[in-house]
Amino acid sequence: MSRNRSLEPQHSRRAFLKELSVTSCALGLASLSLNAAEEPSGSDEPDKLESLVDCHLHINHFDRSIEQTIQHMDQTGTAKAFVLPLETGEGGVLLRSETVLHAYHLYPERIIPFCQTDIRSPDCLERLSAYRQLGCRGIGEQKEHVPLNDKRLEAVIEFCDEHNWPITIHFQDGAGGFNQGLADHLEYYLKKYQTVRIIGHAQTWWANISEDVPDSDKTLYPKGPVVPGGLLDRLLGEYPNLYGDMSAGSGFNALSRDEEFTAGFIERNSKQLLFGSDCPCLDGEGQGFQGTCYSMQLQNFLAGLVSDKSVLNDLFSRNALRALEGHTSSDE
Ligand SMILES: [Zn+2]
Ligand SMILES: [Zn+2]
Repeated sequence: MSRNRSLEPQHSRRAFLKELSVTSCALGLASLSLNAAEEPSGSDEPDKLESLVDCHLHINHFDRSIEQTIQHMDQTGTAKAFVLPLETGEGGVLLRSETVLHAYHLYPERIIPFCQTDIRSPDCLERLSAYRQLGCRGIGEQKEHVPLNDKRLEAVIEFCDEHNWPITIHFQDGAGGFNQGLADHLEYYLKKYQTVRIIGHAQTWWANISEDVPDSDKTLYPKGPVVPGGLLDRLLGEYPNLYGDMSAGSGFNALSRDEEFTAGFIERNSKQLLFGSDCPCLDGEGQGFQGTCYSMQLQNFLAGLVSDKSVLNDLFSRNALRALEGHTSSDE
């Protein structure tokens, strides 16, 4: 089911990556009959890579259909994905929770449906309750032009806390940003609500991998060596209910800017980092997206950087299921 992918960059990685693609794809197929609520199997076989779970996927990037989205999963060896609606369309992609639920009914073994609705609408919590009744498993992608300390956003986080849900938040500081104020306001939620899993995503989240964070109007994609002591290391270390979503250009930029630092960052936070793609491409080979597939790019990068297969299993699937189910890293 997986096409022969171009896994060129490092000659020495090839054999391992070939094995990775075959194994994750084969096990992906095998796992499709598993209930998403079950713990992934295979802990007694530390050398095997388990099926891949993508924590961040949308359907209609560039008008991609539900079927094409499933094909993208097939071609990237992805067994299951958290599919995240964006109901207001702020930020460019409009995807309704109803569409995600429709896709879930067509492909219940492949799609883990999230929901999202405008926190500024007066019936927000009622709608979220209805989506929960219909099978949704979490909230995301939370992406609206509101500051992070907006009380209506707190009500949604509290809802997640009551219902043992995760929430994926797009953190982007600056005038046109979303949920601004991570450095000032995130810890308040982590302290107050310890059941909800907050999954951090996007530019400002990842800029905080480093202790020095440039002003958001200068750049949202800082490059070059990371200064140790960043906010992410501190918060992930102190709060087991905080997770990091490695998807998209923001995740890849942060993880690839200083590989030596990243190796340690992954080691310190290995139970809280989630593989994700946010990939808009059509075919798992970058079609429609200038030849880049975020899923393959990150799979190859992590497989090249991390040699411990049990850590790769955490990154590629177990942490996502842990964030979904509510097992904190202190369980292990
Ligand atoms: Zn996204
Ligand atoms: Zn892709």
